[in-house]
Amino acid sequence: MEALPDSREVLERIRARKKELGRELLILTHHYQRKDIVALGDFLGDSFELSRKGAADRDCRYIVFCGVHFMAESSAILARSHQTVQIPCLEAGCWMAGMADAFSLERAFEEIISVAGDGSTVPIVYMNSDASIKAFCGCRGGTVCTSSNAPAAMRRGFETASKILFVPDRHLGQNTGLRLGLRPEEMIVWDPAQPLGGNDAESVRKARLILWNGYCLVHTRFEVEHMREARVRFPEARIVVHPECTREVVALADAVGSTGFIVNYVKKAPPGSTVVVGTEINLVHRLALEYPDRKVLDLRSSLCPNMFRINPGNLLHTMEHIGEYNVVTVPEATRADARLALDRMLALPS
Ligand code: SF4
Repeated sequence: MEALPDSREVLERIRARKKELGRELLILTHHYQRKDIVALGDFLGDSFELSRKGAADRDCRYIVFCGVHFMAESSAILARSHQTVQIPCLEAGCWMAGMADAFSLERAFEEIISVAGDGSTVPIVYMNSDASIKAFCGCRGGTVCTSSNAPAAMRRGFETASKILFVPDRHLGQNTGLRLGLRPEEMIVWDPAQPLGGNDAESVRKARLILWNGYCLVHTRFEVEHMREARVRFPEARIVVHPECTREVVALADAVGSTGFIVNYVKKAPPGSTVVVGTEINLVHRLALEYPDRKVLDLRSSLCPNMFRINPGNLLHTMEHIGEYNVVTVPEATRADARLALDRMLALPS
């Protein structure tokens, strides 16, 4: 049996392979990746920025996506025909994306229109979802959104229908709805395991925003008591959190925004200031290293184990089997419909 190379040798072999492949290879790394993976990547960003980057690079043939599966899938949907997309670990899924499946979504949509009427409802689907969910959304006139353009996607949705079915993150949906001025009583939660999502027909008819009962286990670990504790321990600090956190946590924060927003928030914080950050711990640690002249602290240590599955060992294996190992593909019919929903997102005002 071949002995496992030590970590220094792994890094050397990855660098050598990168050099060999040159511009044909593009390594994309998400903000939540561990720092040695980020250091090996060509681009760092959120899921949509990275997918766009891959498709915009005409020279590259091989895209290695260091993130979770739905991200690599979105990259495959947007990729050009000569490009292959690979993920170093196929088991790097996303809990939230796994909370919505196409069968349950289709059934929910049928149930909603059976009480609210045809044309009453448009789906909006968060980027953190499988290709089949995006495809369903594309077929029903809906759009994909990210945490940064969710308000624009919702505004567009309300121009085309009186109700929005928001899938799968109930917290991002609720926080966005409140930001747009909806009242809490205009929103209901849809539990896909129950008839009418656990609601009565009258509530479904009245609701403007129907929130799929999904959530991110990494961001819902932040609780009100962590916010209060941080205020007591660091009274001088500004607290910034991600909109996948609960409404109660968001209400106590100084600022709320997407991963890109959080990165900018820390960047713009004055030297000497303290910023407490409520998001994935690898990003918080990296920001603390990048800005040593300000105090960047975690609200609580919350790691995404799915993102953490990508490591130098499986990245090396992918690069030594380029174009072959863990290639991510999407069936053509699904790809075309999902692309519709992604293209509508691209057309949203920024
Ligand atoms: S942080 Fe949450 S939403 Fe993001 S990949 Fe991990 S489980 Fe999914």
